[in-house]
Amino acid sequence: MIGRFAPSPTGPLHFGSLVAALGSYLLARLRRGSWLLRIEDLDPPRVVPGAAEAMIRLLEQLGFEWDGEILYQSSRSKRYQQILQQLCEQQQLFDCNCSRREILLSAPHPGEEGPVYPGRCRQGPVGSREELAIRLRVEDRMICCRDKVFGLQQQNLQREIGDFVLRRADGLFAYQLAVVVDDIDSGVTQVVRGADLLPSTARQVYLYQCLQQPLPEYYHLPLALGADQEKLSKRHGASAVVTAENGSLALWHALRFLGQPVPEPLSKASAKELLAWALLHFSVEKISTCPQPAPLL
Ligand code: GLU
Repeated sequence: MIGRFAPSPTGPLHFGSLVAALGSYLLARLRRGSWLLRIEDLDPPRVVPGAAEAMIRLLEQLGFEWDGEILYQSSRSKRYQQILQQLCEQQQLFDCNCSRREILLSAPHPGEEGPVYPGRCRQGPVGSREELAIRLRVEDRMICCRDKVFGLQQQNLQREIGDFVLRRADGLFAYQLAVVVDDIDSGVTQVVRGADLLPSTARQVYLYQCLQQPLPEYYHLPLALGADQEKLSKRHGASAVVTAENGSLALWHALRFLGQPVPEPLSKASAKELLAWALLHFSVEKISTCPQPAPLL
């Protein structure tokens, strides 16, 4: 059993990421599995200098112990390219030079994740842009997986997403590709993360199928909301940021957030004591699927 935590270093660790760190750590350790740490620094313009180091230091201070070396996605381009080559040989890729506007205008209907790509460049690029993106051909069938918290998930990629991008027109590899290739190469068998990634899961399952690899188990954790009921993000500023000072209290809240009956007096306990409590008492059945407000830290 191998689990992992894979934060993007786009800012300080916020409460939602702490929940993902805690959930993935406990679910791995409860099954005596390994727990890996991967820094998803794939998108240079979004990476904040120093953010990865700060997250790593904070995780250490809170008593999270990971196995092996930390993997940085920025060091993996050769491997992603190799996998693209494999998919290309399997005739599953095509070049696309559609602009956003062209996709919007020709999309059959808006999908939840933006306009559905209508397959315009499947027979060769017909768009107006100079740069080429690389897309993966999808099929008109249901992609299914059983999430251990949210239950059965199904999506018809062709109808709801369309052929999706694996390498962007600016040359960057897409998150969907990197996450699957890294999880496969690291032997990850258990993916635990926030429910904001539930809509990406069918694309990732499809990629596992294209690469003929066994699926990991999926556990998606409830979304943490800001006071405005929106998904927690940088906009919510300092109130949701986890620090060395508020870290153990944040862990106590994170356990409550995951539905665990951690006693009130333990809100004063150290991070190490809270992790020790959680390893004895954590129960996955108690995790809710409802989005919940993040505490004010
Ligand atoms: N890097 C992603 C994030 O911080 C998580 C990716 C994953 O767990 O699959 O939201």
